[in-house]
Amino acid sequence: MEKLLYSGKAKQMWQTDDPAVLRVVYLDQATALNGKQKDHFAGKGQAAKAISDLVFAYLKDHGIETHLIKQLSPTEELVKKCTMIPLEFVTRNVVAGHFASRYGLKEGQSLPHPVQETFFKSDQLDDPFINASATTALEIASQEELDQMWALCQQVDDLLTPLFEKAGMRLVDFKLEFGRLADGHIILADEFSPDNCRLWDLQSGDHLDKDVYRRHLADLTSTYEEVHHRLQAAIEEEK
Ligand code: ADP
Ligand code: UDP
Repeated sequence: MEKLLYSGKAKQMWQTDDPAVLRVVYLDQATALNGKQKDHFAGKGQAAKAISDLVFAYLKDHGIETHLIKQLSPTEELVKKCTMIPLEFVTRNVVAGHFASRYGLKEGQSLPHPVQETFFKSDQLDDPFINASATTALEIASQEELDQMWALCQQVDDLLTPLFEKAGMRLVDFKLEFGRLADGHIILADEFSPDNCRLWDLQSGDHLDKDVYRRHLADLTSTYEEVHHRLQAAIEEEK
């Protein structure tokens, strides 16, 4: 019997008959301000999943292992069950969001090298910033594991920045999550969609990510569908 293990801000995680496998359901829901603002958007789950599937398949084709096993429907898939490492790995190529407000900067300036920031994943604590020595002292991950995860973030950035550029978008920043398999092996988990990254149109600078919802700029589902179509075309072109 399937059991709902977790219902999050964007997805549900269901235990399957296989203890090593989860069924993920993408929800027609968006949240902001750490869940304090929440709204329903028809078709959003399908659009976010379609983008994440394209990105994870692209990463897999380029040698990056992910949790994805198999598609079940436009809103559901099977993934390898991980013990999640409770960290959010944020990579920033351009000044935006909290990086801008924290340092009193205007959004839009390209950074001379990607900035890497880690946050402790806790809705209750509002995802506080965490550095490497706190991460190792609290035994959340070892230094070696942190190095490995940051190297994966760098590889993802190196692969996706030019891909999104071909799709007419600037990859401003993004958040990744990693998990451990039963043997301790670390893989890329969760998702990669405009819920967790910032994408700006290369020509107009328009926002093509969850900021359209956070800042009340445009319709969320149609924005995600646009990103999906552009990304699909860019990947097809590479083949
Ligand atoms: P949130 O927890 O931020 O509200 P979601 O609604 O996307 O986010 O919920 C998905 C949850 O499942 C997240 O807590 C994420 O860390 C977790 N998760 C993602 N991939 C896996 C996996 N392969 N195994 C176990 N948990 C996962
Ligand atoms: N991000 C995320 N989950 C979070 C916080 C941030 O996916 O809980 C993503 C966010 O979508 C953006 C990047 O991480 O692409 C950097 O976010 P920032 O720290 O600027 O915070 P925000 O302004 O998005 O709250």
